[in-house]
Amino acid sequence: MFVTARRPCDECRRQKKGCSKDDGGCVACKVKGMASSFHSSPKRRTETHILERVQTVCIYTFLFT
Ligand SMILES: [Zn+2]
Repeated sequence: MFVTARRPCDECRRQKKGCSKDDGGCVACKVKGMASSFHSSPKRRTETHILERVQTVCIYTFLFT
């Protein structure tokens, strides 16, 4: 399951709302009928995303040149 540091879930952080920080779903998310997600920090996610894109570009470059 989640390794949860006590921090707001992604949805509450995005909307800058207070999060009840419950494991698996805070009050705000339960009201919406969805589970809270606690992903890695946005910074790390962005870095991973960029890395994936760079790899994709490299593959295409390799295939089509
Ligand atoms: Zn929340």
